[in-house]
Amino acid sequence: MISNSAQFELMSEFRAKCKKHNLKMTPQRVTIYQELVKAKDHPGCEDIFERVHKKFPDISLDTVYRTLSTFADIGVINQVEGYGEAKRYDPNTGRHHHLRCLKCNSIVDFQDTTFNNLRIPKSVEKSFVVNNIKVILEGLCKECAKK
Ligand SMILES: [Zn+2]
Ligand SMILES: [Zn+2]
Repeated sequence: MISNSAQFELMSEFRAKCKKHNLKMTPQRVTIYQELVKAKDHPGCEDIFERVHKKFPDISLDTVYRTLSTFADIGVINQVEGYGEAKRYDPNTGRHHHLRCLKCNSIVDFQDTTFNNLRIPKSVEKSFVVNNIKVILEGLCKECAKK
């Protein structure tokens, strides 16, 4: 979840990164990015398409897909780790962890400094360079647990 001031910061970061990578700030690109930043659900390409399509009826699913891939390439968004289903995108490129509901597929951000500083097992250290620790807790969200 991203606060208003953080959203503002993300927008200026977005502009700077696009400039750095010579990516033109088209209204479509800006809208796609804004929809992502507003979203709290780690949306997939089709979700974003549906939201952007209202503003730009001519935009194609393919354009949205390619734009999201470009955004991920230049590091303004992240692709959410998936299990072979459609890709989901995350506008929060800062350090955080995910709660993933196995029933409704919702993905919610959470912060935890203990998880950020998890100790890497010795056996892993020998064979793997860890760049980032991201914890995914799988289970049932409040809504799904009620049912
Ligand atoms: Zn759920
Ligand atoms: Zn996230």
